[in-house]
Amino acid sequence: MLADYHTHNYLCKHADGTLEEYVQHAIKIGLNEIGLSDHTPMPNNWDLAVRMLEDQFWNEYKPTVLSLQEKYKKQITIKFALEGDFFPGTEQWVKEFNSKSDFDYIIGSVHYLGTWGFDDPQFVANYDVKDVNEIYTDYYDHIKRSAQCGLFDIIGHCDLVKKFGHRPTKDMEEILRETFKAVKTSGMSVEINTSGLRKPVKEMYTSEKILKILSEYGIPLTIGSDAHTPTDVGRDFDLAKQLVEKYGKGKISIYTKRQRSEVSI
Ligand SMILES: [Zn+2]
Ligand SMILES: [Zn+2]
Repeated sequence: MLADYHTHNYLCKHADGTLEEYVQHAIKIGLNEIGLSDHTPMPNNWDLAVRMLEDQFWNEYKPTVLSLQEKYKKQITIKFALEGDFFPGTEQWVKEFNSKSDFDYIIGSVHYLGTWGFDDPQFVANYDVKDVNEIYTDYYDHIKRSAQCGLFDIIGHCDLVKKFGHRPTKDMEEILRETFKAVKTSGMSVEINTSGLRKPVKEMYTSEKILKILSEYGIPLTIGSDAHTPTDVGRDFDLAKQLVEKYGKGKISIYTKRQRSEVSI
């Protein structure tokens, strides 16, 4: 059983391909499930350059996902999902927006520290004007709060802050433990996201150091490619599977209408 729980499409304006092309690639490589989890709309036209409009969600994204589920139901299970943003101050809006549709799951991702989109290559210079240890501390504080807010099912790319290769100079063990204790309490899963291998850091998101902590706490895992082009669906899943064997007892979480269950890979 293999499921890719993190994919995008052209609607977010920084990915190629239609939803159907992602589904077709998943079928071609033999996945059992694909989660369509494009970047969520956000209130007040926040960072529209990297996400669909709310109108597009209602008029295109949602109806397309539902019709693809029907069209391909004999070949693959398609999950209706979103990659949400944890952005302090938007929680009430997000809660209301998410309650209006029957999502299978919602990934909770931290892409912003204040107004800084720290994973956007355009703003990478900001790493050099800030203290790297403070950036990491602030980042994990956001991850912890994204778990505590109760809005999401899966922690997305939980160590995204390393994307461009910046590393803390102090020991993060205590902060990591505090963060993932909160994740454990939330009942959420954490994803193994293979896209880190395709980024300057050239390392899977959810490092082995963190996976060891997750395994110790018994935190469940999902796998996602974070594909922004259809042929990246399922990319490097052989490596992800090895990590699931090593740190997740060979099991991944799957979600239906926001209920989690576990399956062996
Ligand atoms: Zn994206
Ligand atoms: Zn993301």
